[in-house]
Amino acid sequence: MIFDLHTHSTASDGALSPEALLARADANGVSYMALTDHDTVAGVKALQAAMANPVFAAELSSPIELVPGVEISAAIDGRTYHILGLWLDADNAPLNTFLDRQRGVREARAEAIAEKLARQGIEGALDGAKALAGGAVLSRPHFARYLLEQGYCTKEQQAFKRWLGAGKPCDVPCKWPSAEEAIAAIHGAGGLAVLAHPDKYGLTRTKMRILLEAFKAAGGDGLELISGRQDEAITSYLLRLSHKYDLACSTGSDFHSPEQTWADLGCNASLPSSAVSIWSLASEPSLSGSLLEEASTPSQP
Ligand code: AMP
Ligand code: MN
Ligand code: MN
Ligand code: MN
Repeated sequence: MIFDLHTHSTASDGALSPEALLARADANGVSYMALTDHDTVAGVKALQAAMANPVFAAELSSPIELVPGVEISAAIDGRTYHILGLWLDADNAPLNTFLDRQRGVREARAEAIAEKLARQGIEGALDGAKALAGGAVLSRPHFARYLLEQGYCTKEQQAFKRWLGAGKPCDVPCKWPSAEEAIAAIHGAGGLAVLAHPDKYGLTRTKMRILLEAFKAAGGDGLELISGRQDEAITSYLLRLSHKYDLACSTGSDFHSPEQTWADLGCNASLPSSAVSIWSLASEPSLSGSLLEEASTPSQP
C-alpha cells in the first residue's frame, strides 16, 4: 500500500493537471494520493469533480483515494515553514477565506520581486510570471521559469541561486500568517496539520528541536517523516523526534514534474513500523480495519 501525501499540480507550481497527476499516481501504484498545492484547494475541487465522472473513474486501474490537502506557507519565529493540511474539507468557507488572503500575500510579494528584478535590469517579470502561471497560484518557480525562458539562466535552480533564493538580491520577505493561524484554519476544515519536509530547512539539531516544540505547541498533529527519496539516517533522526514531540508521521514525494525523475509520484518509502501514522488520526471510513493494518506493514524498499 503506497501513500503519497504531498504532491503539486498546475493549480500551483506543478507541471501536471490534477487529473493527469492522479492518473500518474494510479499508474505508479499509489493507493492514497494527497493533492497539496501551495495555498490553494482549487486543484482538489477540480479533481473531486473529475472523479465523480464515471468516464474518468473508469480509466483508473485501481480505486485510488484522493486525500484533499493543501501546503500552507506560515511563519514560526520569523522564518517561513510549510504546513500540510490533510483530509480537509476543501469547501470549508473559513479555510477558503484564509487561502484567499495567502494568495493576496503572494500577489504583493510577486510585485516586489518584479520590482527588484527590474532594478537588476530584468524587465517584464510580473507579466511574464503571471502568463506562465496561467491563473495558478503565483509562486517563485513561475519567476524562475520566466528567467529561464528569457535566457537569463540555463536551469530553474540557477534562478533561485542568483536572484530568488533566501538572501539573494530579489528575495522578498513575506508576511505569512503564524503557524497557529495556519493550523487553526486546517483544523477548522476538519484536517490534520503536518510540518512539511523538516529536513529541508537547513536547521541544526538544536533549532530542529525548538521548531518541533513550537509546531506542537501551535497545535500541529504530525511531521513529514519521509520526503521523496530520503537518506535512512534522516528518517531515523526524524522518527526519534516524532516520538519525543508526540507528532504522527506522514510520507510523500513532493512531486512537481515528471522531469524530476528522482521525485516521482510514490517514490517515497513507506513508514517504518514503529512510526505512528498520520492516517491513524484520520477519521476516514476507508482507512479503518484491515486496510489500516495492511498500510502499517512495510511494503516498499
Ligand atoms: P514560493 O512558495 O513561491 O516561495 O515557492 C516555493 C517553491 O519554489 C517550492 O515549493 C519549490 O517548488 C520551489 N523552490 C524553492 N527553492 C528552490 C530552489 N532552490 N530550486 C528550485 N526550486 C525551488
Ligand atoms: Mn513547490
Ligand atoms: Mn514545501
Ligand atoms: Mn511541496
